[in-house]
Amino acid sequence: KFGVIGHQDNWKKIVDFVNSIRITDGNPELSQAKIKEVYGYFPPTKLFDIQINSKVSGFVEGYYIESFLSPDELGHSHIWNNLKKTREACEKAAQLGVDVVALGGFTSIILESGGANLQAIQGTKFTTGNTLTAALIADSLVKACQKWNQPLKDSTLLIIGSTGDIGSACVRYFSNKVKKILLTARNPAPLHQQEEQLKSEKANCLASTHVSELLPAADLIICVASSVLPENYLDLLQSHAIICDAGYPKNLNSENVKPSQKIYAGGMCLVEEGYCFSPEHFQKNIYEFPLPNISHGCTMESVVLALEGQSLAFSKGRGNINLENMAYILAAAAKHGIVTAPFFNSKGLIN
Ligand code: NDP
Repeated sequence: KFGVIGHQDNWKKIVDFVNSIRITDGNPELSQAKIKEVYGYFPPTKLFDIQINSKVSGFVEGYYIESFLSPDELGHSHIWNNLKKTREACEKAAQLGVDVVALGGFTSIILESGGANLQAIQGTKFTTGNTLTAALIADSLVKACQKWNQPLKDSTLLIIGSTGDIGSACVRYFSNKVKKILLTARNPAPLHQQEEQLKSEKANCLASTHVSELLPAADLIICVASSVLPENYLDLLQSHAIICDAGYPKNLNSENVKPSQKIYAGGMCLVEEGYCFSPEHFQKNIYEFPLPNISHGCTMESVVLALEGQSLAFSKGRGNINLENMAYILAAAAKHGIVTAPFFNSKGLIN
């Protein structure tokens, strides 16, 4: 069995699913304000079962465990409480006898941060799911360049969040495939260390902590920062820019994109043979995508590992993703019919 530990990124989803699991006895729905008061006190809970249909192995079963981290409390000042809750969610997964668990969104911090590093509880292994996410981002951008006639080797690629776990994997993948690579993050020390490393490998690169200085030069942009960037940043981009936004919350607002610019959700996959949740209503409440059978790369990493009988902590720490593992997990996923998602954003499918 596989497991997925997650959390919600907005109150609308939370209000919907909390009201859907309440026994109301005819009482009115709980308001957002009421739910906000108590949400942080909910213990991690298994909310629903998941069935994924593999092309070669048929159905594989797993659980979704909600960590109940508050979307308002994902910042540094709440880190210890969030680590504690994530640890409890991991223990819950171990009690349920899950073989391998993906830590979605913010919960992956427990595997990325040195101090709280977690390898396994009893026989249950944990993975951030970031290797498959990075592989899907890379594969989608290669396909986007083919689709929209923007040759990679002639392109300048900007990676927003280049020093992060997924960002650094994308840097590794693309640094010798593009004309120039632009790097950005807020902390100057790791950023300039990354720039020096790339220069020593003869890559054509430039780093700056000021994203706005780099945007006008970019043909391609990968967004893997955990921050929303200012609205006017899209205006700084070239009219032919292709943007793969894999961050949560979404780093750039796809509503404001020019018709000639392409912005799509990155790190996503399509489960060709489909999946279902039980109870079914969670599919709408929690997994709301404009297309059917779409899922996050990070969650599908645990599914692929379970299907392959590989109960191991595949992605852990920060900055450890290598190209060999990216190629392996992407190919293993494809074998089971879990492939790079078609291009879509909040407005729907992009042609
Ligand atoms: P990390 O925390 O390892 O990396 C985040 C990176 O973003 C760091 O380089 C950080 O550097 C940088 N950053 C943060 N804020 C800003 C900012 N305002 N401007 C510029 N750079 C910034 O995260 P991960 O690599 O694990 O994940 C990256 C993103 O991908 C997250 O948003 C995560 O939710 C999302 N994700 C998506 C998945 C999917 O399936 N689509 C799966 C897994 C993750 P610094 O702190 O120095 O600024």
